[in-house]
Amino acid sequence: MTIAIERIRNIGIIAHIDAGKTTTTERILFYAGETHRMGNVDDGTTVTDFDPEEAKRGITIYSAAISCKWQDHTINIIDTPGHVDFTAEVERSLRVLDGGVVVFSAVEGVEAQSETVWRQADKYHVPRICFINKMDRIGAGFERVFSQLSDRLHANPVAVSIPLGEGPVTNPQGFRGILDLIQMKALYFNSAPQGTTIDVQSIPEEELMRAEEWHRRLIDAIALLDDEAFSIYDSTGDLPAEQIIRVLRKAVISNQLQPVLCGSSLDYIGVQPILDAVVRYLPSPLDIPPVEGRNPNPKKAEKSESRTPSEKEPFCGLVFKIHVDEHSELYFVRIYSGVLKNRSRVLNPRTGSKELISQLWRMQADSREKLEEATAGDIVGVIGPKDAVTGDTLCDALHGILLESIRFPETVISMAIEPDSSADRKKLEETLKVMSKQDPTFSAKISEETGQTIVSGMGELHLEIISKRMERDFHIKMRSHKPRVTYRETIASKVELEGRFDRQNAGVRQFASVRISLEPVPEEPGISILYKMKPNVLPPELALIFEQALRDELKGGGLVGYQLINTKAVALDAEYHEGETTETAIRAAVADAVRQALQKVGTVLLEPIMKLEVVTPSDFVGNISADLNSRRAMIVNTELRGHLVVMIAEAPLSRMFGYSTDVRSLSQGRATFTMEPLRYDVAPPNTEA
Ligand code: GDP
Repeated sequence: MTIAIERIRNIGIIAHIDAGKTTTTERILFYAGETHRMGNVDDGTTVTDFDPEEAKRGITIYSAAISCKWQDHTINIIDTPGHVDFTAEVERSLRVLDGGVVVFSAVEGVEAQSETVWRQADKYHVPRICFINKMDRIGAGFERVFSQLSDRLHANPVAVSIPLGEGPVTNPQGFRGILDLIQMKALYFNSAPQGTTIDVQSIPEEELMRAEEWHRRLIDAIALLDDEAFSIYDSTGDLPAEQIIRVLRKAVISNQLQPVLCGSSLDYIGVQPILDAVVRYLPSPLDIPPVEGRNPNPKKAEKSESRTPSEKEPFCGLVFKIHVDEHSELYFVRIYSGVLKNRSRVLNPRTGSKELISQLWRMQADSREKLEEATAGDIVGVIGPKDAVTGDTLCDALHGILLESIRFPETVISMAIEPDSSADRKKLEETLKVMSKQDPTFSAKISEETGQTIVSGMGELHLEIISKRMERDFHIKMRSHKPRVTYRETIASKVELEGRFDRQNAGVRQFASVRISLEPVPEEPGISILYKMKPNVLPPELALIFEQALRDELKGGGLVGYQLINTKAVALDAEYHEGETTETAIRAAVADAVRQALQKVGTVLLEPIMKLEVVTPSDFVGNISADLNSRRAMIVNTELRGHLVVMIAEAPLSRMFGYSTDVRSLSQGRATFTMEPLRYDVAPPNTEA
């Protein structure tokens, strides 16, 4: 059965770790009817954390998509990780979701990582609603966190509910329920059947003034945003509920403001109103601009393509996640246009090959529903494709479109691994292939010099998790060597050169000549390849080979053997001889040009710089900052958060090995930290790379 597009919500639940994302998701899945047993994070039985490694660590690293139903709407929840070591995963989820529920703790409030995630959501223009959770805890403060939303995140919050009491639910003045500022009612959640029934009552007398004041703030925030609402407000001095909801929806979708709700997921208070708000205020796929891409045909590569979320358009979708286990590969696809049918073939424009859709699934919390087709706007699990990787487009073979792929940061750390027995070698290789497909921030290759298998990732924790997964899920016994920093190189200055290949072999001549330029672009990570040749200098297939060869050469390594990054390569010109200019000749000429260019101007060694956030009780600030200084770290910001101090620093990865043990001993085990790749910088002259 297909679903009307306007009744779909693709949302992410976004939060700083520990704010209560998992508990809130759990409760949502329970109320939205798909979970039969309510899970609990604290005993590792929740539904979204289906990876045992995550459940054990209590962090959700690998996103999954789960569908549930609320008021005749299908809500697809795309899981987003809360741990900053995995920002690429957060960005990947943000790319395919249409709206977000951002969960904050009423005690800890807006934390540095919430700021990171908020900024990422800004970057992708994701409309949001906020949920201030943990109202039941000692020290909970709704108003304090509410003002932090504008002060720290520069958000434009409007409260649609406020708490009735704050602090432990067992206290007479504790958190008892919420005041709905749109209906102007008090809602009490009956805890006996897990908050399933809601008691709607009049607002208690003693709370009426406070509720009216907040109601007024809500009306004032929205009345000016809409002509019709304004004229009603002007004549009556108030706005009826349906007007408030209508204007709020418009304003949320256009990112003008963010409704704020409150509750306690743990105590089953205020969760159903989140679902109501998702349906009311967050966009359906129809409210989102058409998806843009380019034509995959190299001859028409400059041509942009776009698809509106309609069943009538040709199919296109984006693979945003691959979940792999020993038995199957499940591809999570966001469908942007058209209809994806079971047992159909679709094009993967990156590889140019067709992929078979052999099964279509709607993934629910604890079951899967088999589908015959799925339509624009929806998110489904697909079995069948073989060569697609995360970030690939799938589309109608007759109407090609290449959506912008998801960008992942460069890996910064690598480690050699060896299977315990040589019998395991093949299995190891296959497992690594599967795992790197699933997690594009991780890669594996065999070292040409040593024959060892090298795995690379985003940090020590990332590699640790990967090793554990291989042992636990794929039953591979192996030894890991010490992790090492992955250095990079960049071209030292701009250079323009010609490369040639001219060989006679058994009377057959192979010939190519190419002109290229290489240029450092410090502000752009990765490599960019531009094709600036006059039309028809090369036939289209060879033009493509020219570009590919440039990319391969830069990836192949600079003078020291590390990949070149922050480098722009331009294909400028070529000489083509009919019958003699072959693919091999082009590749060899490009290799010659790049080699000469590197030798002529040289390369600069780059080292990865990490962004580090250390949270510590103030007693240990001195110890920790002295230690950071000794590691060539630069502390860029220090702020107070409650009784804790948060230090943000930038530090070279080469000096941060084993930091988790060191920071513990510097702080009697009290400080915590997160670290993620930030950028590559010029390495000091004496670096032994
Ligand atoms: P996540 O890291 O954001 O996914 O957060 P979790 O849902 O795992 O919650 C972190 C901790 O906070 C767990 O021990 C939860 O039981 C607890 N927690 C979650 N929501 C609430 C709440 O509303 N009130 C209280 N008191 N604790 C909560």
